[in-house]
Amino acid sequence: MADEQNKPDRENQSVLDDIGALAKGLKTTLGEYFSPQVTTEYPEEKSPRSERYRGRHYLRRYDNGLERCIGCELCAAACPVGCILVIAAENSDENRVSPGERYAKTYEINMLRCIFCGYCEEACPVQAIVLGPEYELSDTSREKFIYTKEKLLEPLPPDVQARLDSRPHPDPLPPAGEGKT
Ligand code: SF4
Ligand code: SF4
Repeated sequence: MADEQNKPDRENQSVLDDIGALAKGLKTTLGEYFSPQVTTEYPEEKSPRSERYRGRHYLRRYDNGLERCIGCELCAAACPVGCILVIAAENSDENRVSPGERYAKTYEINMLRCIFCGYCEEACPVQAIVLGPEYELSDTSREKFIYTKEKLLEPLPPDVQARLDSRPHPDPLPPAGEGKT
């Protein structure tokens, strides 16, 4: 009997709770509606990358055109997923490719396996391999994700060059007369 008497009170309370929840939801909706728009119109607009962002790799050259890579394979040894292939060959007076005794005859990175950890860049003694800011790396076949030396030697984007130039310690110099950083 007492339950029957309290029923209208409980119903009234339930309606008030629903109205409160509705008001709270509307407040959130209206608050978002009138707040500044933060959607980035990708791909026309791109959100800025961190200065230390690690994306697509590049192989660097010295200013005189010689390749920095000396084929030492330290980057391949440091790579935790084994996605770098380096096959070195000897430089000669007739065919000098890098300042060292050897150069990378073959240099490939399987970008499908790469986890963009940056260990290869850290391991390189001559700062030949660097990771740039590009993250749009989609393609149409698995073969195109094997980045060859020719592709990796494409010119550095200006922001990558600026990042390298701003390092507190200058790059190591090649042997005298063979190039400069
Ligand atoms: S970024 Fe990491 S995973 Fe990718 S090639 Fe370099 S060492 Fe290997
Ligand atoms: S990129 Fe650097 S670490 Fe890798 S083989 Fe060339 S010189 Fe050695």
